[in-house]
Amino acid sequence: MKVLELTNVFKDYKLANKTKFNALKDINVSFEKGELVSIVGESGSGKSTLMNLIGGLDSDYTGEIKISGKDLKSFNGKDLDDYRKKKIGFVFQSFNLIPHLSILDNVTIALTLSNEKESVKKEKAEAILDKLGLKNQLHKKPTQLSGGQKQRVAIARALINNPDIILADEPTGALDSSTTMQILDILKDIADEGKLVLMVTHSEKVASISSRIVEISDGQIIRDDLNKKYKKNKIKLFEEKSTEKNQANSENFDDIKLDNAEIKKKEKKTKEKHLSLFSAIRLSFHNMWASRVKNFLMAFGVSISLIAMITMLAFGSGLTGYINSLANSYSNPLIVTVAKKEAKNPDDPMGGMGSFLNPSSFTDEEKDKVLLDINTYLDEHYPELDYRVKEEDISYGFQMFSGFSKDGANVIFGEGEDDKAGIFYLYTTPTYYDEKQLLAGHLSTDKIDENGIGEIMFSNAILKPLGLENMDEALGKVVEIDVNFKNVKVKQKVRITGIIDVNMFDGFLVTYIDYNLLDKLVYDSTLEQNGAGIHIQPTSIYIKTDAESTTNIINNYLSTRDDLTGSVENQLANMFNEMMSTFSIALAVISGISLFVALIMILVVMYMSVSERTREIGVLKSIGARKRDIKKIFSTESFLIGLLSGIVGIALSLLFGGLLTIILNVTLGFAPIAYEWWFFAVALGIAIIISVLAGLYPASKAAKLDPVESLRHE
Ligand code: ADP
Ligand code: MG
Repeated sequence: MKVLELTNVFKDYKLANKTKFNALKDINVSFEKGELVSIVGESGSGKSTLMNLIGGLDSDYTGEIKISGKDLKSFNGKDLDDYRKKKIGFVFQSFNLIPHLSILDNVTIALTLSNEKESVKKEKAEAILDKLGLKNQLHKKPTQLSGGQKQRVAIARALINNPDIILADEPTGALDSSTTMQILDILKDIADEGKLVLMVTHSEKVASISSRIVEISDGQIIRDDLNKKYKKNKIKLFEEKSTEKNQANSENFDDIKLDNAEIKKKEKKTKEKHLSLFSAIRLSFHNMWASRVKNFLMAFGVSISLIAMITMLAFGSGLTGYINSLANSYSNPLIVTVAKKEAKNPDDPMGGMGSFLNPSSFTDEEKDKVLLDINTYLDEHYPELDYRVKEEDISYGFQMFSGFSKDGANVIFGEGEDDKAGIFYLYTTPTYYDEKQLLAGHLSTDKIDENGIGEIMFSNAILKPLGLENMDEALGKVVEIDVNFKNVKVKQKVRITGIIDVNMFDGFLVTYIDYNLLDKLVYDSTLEQNGAGIHIQPTSIYIKTDAESTTNIINNYLSTRDDLTGSVENQLANMFNEMMSTFSIALAVISGISLFVALIMILVVMYMSVSERTREIGVLKSIGARKRDIKKIFSTESFLIGLLSGIVGIALSLLFGGLLTIILNVTLGFAPIAYEWWFFAVALGIAIIISVLAGLYPASKAAKLDPVESLRHE
């Protein structure tokens, strides 16, 4: 049986203006194994067109091309890929080696596409390269070889799967005359081994040593001569082993006549293997390494968005954490603070300015209602909880703005004092006091000494405006407090017993007085003045709980109430958290935009990479790479670029965060930057997702490239 048989083959190229160009007109020719055929003809006569049809790179023709009796037209896409991989070996004028792969990898690429074992690949490649005199060049790159050596590598690549037919399109066109003869010798040896070698050539000298000359002119065969003088070589380049294999292969290929069941059995046995993920990664890695500067710059570009994202997240969580920890560290975990959301009513006897620092007071009924509401809530939602609010768990606090008299001698609470200095003070209650927060002296109590002098504490920040040099000077000093509520006027001497900085109010001007003392002063003086004593109405209710979890339960309940709120610290923390969540949205938008820019950037670079590698794609296809293999190689590459960008981004953001921490520590004294592991996971994930997304289009474009056009690509 003829190994190759063409009958009535016509090939038209469709041109832009709906016209056709007849590149091949009624080709009828057949070839046998062992022939070394020179195909000659003027440039543009149709030689390459013919080779591409035979090689299964172009299926758009009419007529019949039979390989070992099987019609190429009956092949589906997968069969054609297989056919190119196993039955055909291409050799090109410009070698078409893949520049970023080693000689060994170039030769074994077809085996890689079949997921052949490394050891087998190496053994096969070494055997062939050895015979072609390239034994010691395995690990070189194509650019390190001479033209003749490159063409021998290309021949080795064509031979690796032991094909039936070698198609060589002007294989010596780029070589000098002595190298040309070496290559011809090799091709002759290959033919003598029993393969069909079809070789396009312009050189009469080259043609003269072949066994047959077919001349094409204007798409038609005008000459087909056998060379009577052609002698087969006695020395075999390839030993029987390969001939045996060759036959085995041909048999395999011939078994179209087998019945279906048997075919299935056979398919199962020799289950087709394809490019493995590992090999795809290896191939991509070689290519990425070859253009490492470009890839690194791109990864750096993408990483900038990641750095921005990670740093903003870290900053956000650092700030939130910082504020919350301040809030938490100074509020007792076993105390629930309840305050009213509404600001102080100016008409109320204790009225004053409106602000969340200056909340309204609770009336007696309101106090009772709060407790009742909390217990009802606990009954309904936490019936199994032992804890219920009891009378003895409760204490009260009072907060309002206050000021100093202009001479600094009086602390004035309440409104309406014209002589009040412009500064305001927050006055809180003993619940906030803690030995740990004392800077000097002792915690003030509700005691009044034999001289009628009570106790008060100042924050550190007050000393300077009052003209006190240091804490020692302040301690023991007696000032007068001037309580100036709507219907209550109290004057009382107090001694500064302690300097305290409740961290939440660090730097604020605050006076602290015991709630019971203030209540006693107000009660006594109203009793004296009006004959009826009045108690202060508290602005805060403190509830002592049995456990931190109970505190949380009650705080959660309070946060659902429109009229109530928690401690000042909690309110500040909540306000800050709200600000942060607005900030986070802005942050997400900015990150989103920068990531989108990164995506476009990767898309452009990948797209350019596809057009740069068009020829390589053509070569891979001529070797039998499936669309999926090409897609896999490019997708793997975009995945790797994402991975690289992610890693670079994480590394640089840690570096950047470290620098920022140092700068903030030096300038602000604290650095609210907190990393959480998921920031990095998200950054890495996003980097991979955007680059895989960006790679989808270029990869599918690469997969769809027409092999003939790709090979023509300059
Ligand atoms: P050769 O290899 O003999 O130099 P080709 O087979 O490459 O010639 O081309 C044969 C003819 O077909 C030429 O006239 C060429 O211009 C034309 N041709 C080749 N490829 C295309 C194509 N893709 N579209 C249109 N015309 C083409
Ligand atoms: Mg050509």
